[in-house]
Amino acid sequence: MPLPRPEVDVAIVGGGIVGLATAHRLLERRPDLEVVVLEREPEVGQQQSSRNSGVLHAGLYYTPGSAKARWSRAGKPLLERFCTEHGVPVARTGKVVVAVDRTELPALDALAERARANGVEIHRLGPEGLRDHEPHVTGVAGLWTPETAVTDFHAVCHALTDAIRHAGGEVRTSTEVVDLHTRDHQVDVTSTRGHELTARAVVVCGGLQADRLLAATATATATATATGAPTHDDVRIVPIRGSWLELRPDQRHLVRGNIYPVPTGGGLPFLGVHLTRRVDGQVWVGPNAVPVLARNGRSPSSVDGNDVRDLLAFPGTWRLARAHARVAAGELWRDRSLSAMVRAVQRYVPAIEAAHLRRGPWGVRAQLVDRSGRLVDDFTVRELGRTIHLVNAPSPAATSALAIGAELAGRAGAVLRS
Ligand SMILES: Cc1cc2nc3c(=O)[nH]c(=O)nc-3n(C[C@H](O)[C@H](O)[C@H](O)COP(=O)(O)OP(=O)(O)OC[C@H]3O[C@@H](n4cnc5c(N)ncnc54)[C@H](O)[C@@H]3O)c2cc1C
Repeated sequence: MPLPRPEVDVAIVGGGIVGLATAHRLLERRPDLEVVVLEREPEVGQQQSSRNSGVLHAGLYYTPGSAKARWSRAGKPLLERFCTEHGVPVARTGKVVVAVDRTELPALDALAERARANGVEIHRLGPEGLRDHEPHVTGVAGLWTPETAVTDFHAVCHALTDAIRHAGGEVRTSTEVVDLHTRDHQVDVTSTRGHELTARAVVVCGGLQADRLLAATATATATATATGAPTHDDVRIVPIRGSWLELRPDQRHLVRGNIYPVPTGGGLPFLGVHLTRRVDGQVWVGPNAVPVLARNGRSPSSVDGNDVRDLLAFPGTWRLARAHARVAAGELWRDRSLSAMVRAVQRYVPAIEAAHLRRGPWGVRAQLVDRSGRLVDDFTVRELGRTIHLVNAPSPAATSALAIGAELAGRAGAVLRS
């Protein structure tokens, strides 16, 4: 017996900035489509999309030609325009990268070369040039880009939601998807309430739950397993918390824009403790990068039994821990000790003192790790049946959201035509 007609054209799982941007781009291209965003929280953008630095990255760091390089370069101007058109605050505050001593010069030069390869406007600075941009910075040399901007990504999520609803789309909150089953030309979407809807195509932008949503699809899709498509066994989300300190209002004059160290990273894709003047004028110091035991914990040190079991059962976690034990120990130490974090920023802004700082907010990054313990660096998309999964969307995914959204919308269009 033929199946009844699917209830919607495209369902998007995850109402973070990327899922919402995907729905928006889809409706811009195809206003005739029925599009529904399914979000498990009572409000959109509650996870990574509202717990971040708020920086629109210019694209200095990413391997030329990578999805991160291409989509951040394409996505940033799109998001700046979206903000301007939808009344979301955005400001081009620029950024300096500071080399504090000569040993950092080769890495600084390599970064400048990479930035130029990505088409970023970048200027080499001496110590005086650094002070012209950031009077309180000390270093032997630096880089300046005027392109880096700041915004409020949470406000962007609300503006995207309004735009989606205005275009006839639906954003359905308090809806947790638990199963995605491709059958012939449609996908059955099950939520914790039971049958939720059927769709001709599904795009999944589940952030911290990306691997579980992949598993919820892979196990239910016979064709995917038969073609050797990846399962939950191949990859795992490792939650990595970033916490900030906040500069007291009377000390905010110490930072004009964005001040970053030369990234050392120890082989990890984090940018080092930096200073950000946010779009509302607050100045944040951080974030650090601390492995944690809960993806959606209520406090910075929450422990979630399921998350711990998932981590322990995955060989990649153990290999990751062995390879980066020293870096992780340093991060844990800085997390506990305010003075260690202060020393990290005093290297390039010596005027900042512990008394100028108070504990600020925190957020948890969704970082994909493979079985060998490698942190998957680039944005990663996988297709299973009629579902398209964005399985790795770390920073700068918020910056890149409208370009990632265009890519995912294009792929959903191809599924609809198949
Ligand atoms: C500390 C930190 C600093 C950062 N700084 C920056 C920065 O300055 N600039 C930048 O560009 N990026 C930054 N990022 C990265 C950026 O925030 C993320 O890359 C981006 O928000 C990812 O968006 P998303 O929509 O993929 O994920 P999320 O915002 O996490 O959204 C995923 C959504 O899916 C929902 N969901 C999950 N499971 C289900 C389910 N089963 N059913 C229905 N819904 C579900 C979740 O509730 C959530 O709303 C930072 C991230 C962190 C944590």
